[in-house]
Amino acid sequence: MKNNEPSPLPSNESAVLHRSLKSLPHNVTSASGSYLTLDNGCKILDACGGAAVAVIGHGNAEVMHAAVAQMREYTTSAAERLAKCILEPLPSSTYFDHGLTKVYLVGSGSEANDAALKCAKQYWFEQGEPQRKVYVTREQAYHGGTIGAMSISAFVNRLVLEIEQVFERVGAKNTISFSGESVSGAALGSMLAPQGYWPAVRALCDKHGILLHLDEVMCGMGRTGTYFAFEQEGIKPDIVTIGKGLGGGFAPISAMIVNDKVLGALRRGTSSFNHGHTFQAHAMCCAIALQVQRIVKRQQLVERCAEMGDKLAKLLDEAFHGAKHVAERRGRGLFQSVEFMLDPRTKTPFSKDIEFGAKIQLATFDLGVAVYPGAGTVDGVVGDHVLVAPPYTVSDEELELTVKALRKAYNEVVWVLF
Ligand code: PLP
Repeated sequence: MKNNEPSPLPSNESAVLHRSLKSLPHNVTSASGSYLTLDNGCKILDACGGAAVAVIGHGNAEVMHAAVAQMREYTTSAAERLAKCILEPLPSSTYFDHGLTKVYLVGSGSEANDAALKCAKQYWFEQGEPQRKVYVTREQAYHGGTIGAMSISAFVNRLVLEIEQVFERVGAKNTISFSGESVSGAALGSMLAPQGYWPAVRALCDKHGILLHLDEVMCGMGRTGTYFAFEQEGIKPDIVTIGKGLGGGFAPISAMIVNDKVLGALRRGTSSFNHGHTFQAHAMCCAIALQVQRIVKRQQLVERCAEMGDKLAKLLDEAFHGAKHVAERRGRGLFQSVEFMLDPRTKTPFSKDIEFGAKIQLATFDLGVAVYPGAGTVDGVVGDHVLVAPPYTVSDEELELTVKALRKAYNEVVWVLF
């Protein structure tokens, strides 16, 4: 072999750099509705849509036609139509005046959050307060994998008093914004803030003149039963970021949305937003996301998500009632988690090396159902959890199959371990 010839890869080696260098992800060969088919012929009921991404299920013909039409026509108008569609409240929404006015479209949740950080910083620059340099966020937060998004992914305690102490410590005059997930997803597993928390945080931000940024990359776009999760908290943010469900898994697309207050400062100042990406407002991604959102709105899938979410919560409560290692079922809409602990009464978690949540996920997968595992620390206690976040089109029967598989997997894992 000559030196300049590429060396052949071993036949079982992937050319893609996956997260794990020890094992390969499954190969999906087709997908339709709530189901994925693997290259070994197994059908998997997708009860988590990757990381809560699939909202209208897989393999949708209307989305495919929208993509083909976009390729044929080549128009940039999809971005405008998508932004209007996102801002237009659902007829069923009781929270019509969300106060959001402009949408900045990018490719991932992390990019949307980075855009939010830069936009908030520019807001203060335009207001003549360039000394503001501090972003405050919550302990155990996850805002993404880019350097900017990661740097706000773990800080200060979530309680309001402690947030105020942080504002006072770093100086409100030095603080740009407070960021948090309206409903915590990836890190904590559909964890709701205590009632009254968000209104208190909003009031605190107003008191100190600090911008409020809500990260709804995972919990937004109808996932909790309202288009924006903050609608159920009775507050209006200054900046919101959305992702995952926006393109429904058919295209990489996310967005940062700002209110009039933020927009006004930019208008009065340099009259621009000093940020940009090669693929921002990508026409194909916008056309696909627009079709996904039209389906969501036309079929009233957000309302359906709320209804099916109640059913899922009830099924999980019934299935795990009295289960020795189940600490809690929590969530809103089709964003539900079950948390496991060695002893829930004394809040004793499983030791980390047991990887209880991951074991439950694997056992559930072996039974033909995909759920999303995780482990997060609440009040110093690490809880393993699995997240169930199926498409809003999920059927009653599919919810029953999911919960049955999850309960069976739990029995199997507990039996093997103890
Ligand atoms: N914000 C939240 C709340 C998320 O859950 C995620 C991803 O899981 C992100 C941001 C980052 O999004 P992405 O992975 O698309 O960059």
